Amino acid sequence: MKTGFSRLFFAFFPMAAMFASAAMAASTVDLPKSFVEHHRGQFTQGGLIVMQLRPHTKVFLNGAPIDVLDNQAVIGFGRDAPLQQQLKFVDAAAKTQTAELEVNLRPRDYKIQRIEGLPQKMVTPPAEALEKIRRQGKIKRAARAESVRQTWFAEPFVWPVEGRISGVYGSQRFYNGEPRRPHFGIDIAAPRKTPVRAPASGRVSLAETDMYFEGGLIFIDHGLSVTSVFMHLDSIHVAVGDVVQQGDVIGRVGSTGRSTGPHLDWRMYWQQQRVDPALLVPPMKAKASTASSGKKP
Ligand SMILES: [Zn+2]
Repeated sequence: MKTGFSRLFFAFFPMAAMFASAAMAASTVDLPKSFVEHHRGQFTQGGLIVMQLRPHTKVFLNGAPIDVLDNQAVIGFGRDAPLQQQLKFVDAAAKTQTAELEVNLRPRDYKIQRIEGLPQKMVTPPAEALEKIRRQGKIKRAARAESVRQTWFAEPFVWPVEGRISGVYGSQRFYNGEPRRPHFGIDIAAPRKTPVRAPASGRVSLAETDMYFEGGLIFIDHGLSVTSVFMHLDSIHVAVGDVVQQGDVIGRVGSTGRSTGPHLDWRMYWQQQRVDPALLVPPMKAKASTASSGKKP
């Protein structure tokens, strides 16, 4: 019996390793060197790609023109983005020169997460809250309707807060047992009032202290329709129109809105696509120190 198990284990292990490397290989995409100097990001569902282009390059994603500024462009892929995407590059100076390619995104596997112990009004809002939720939806849409012409998104992102990851992008959520929309953020557990820092430079496009689901909420516009979102904040230290630098304290961790404990829910948009913030940042430095500190907030 014992030998049978270990044989099974050894038989499966190399296969798992093969799958892992195949998946990694699929996410590296060669873009035509005559148009793209270099690019950063992963060609996967939830991925955000930043491209440094050669002069005069125009970019089209699935036929739609993509905004270019200072030879930089950014594209993103949502949680359930079709795996086949078409990229086209055109030399605006010599229009006969074009490159078209089919890009295959690496599919993601999303988790199921069950959140229990929420007040029922946060799972199914009462009728009297619906008007407030609708009004706040308008405020959020308006804040992202326009984006600044800046290339702050091209700066490598840093973690806004470090701590235990308590929720990941894309997971299918059940609140008190009821299925709800997938989770589009990454949840980072941290003590209440921990400073939240701008992960990249940008312009504050929304700063609200009392949103129904999000509680204290900040949007930072990083340019060309890349926006980051920070939820459940205890306090907010910026105002709409402020330009922040990477690392500036914008607010403090809290548990306001639909939340069961202090954490930062960090989300990212590119246009209407929700992308995965975790793909933009390096591994967390303080992870081990947070776990070993033994201190409770
Ligand atoms: Zn969350």
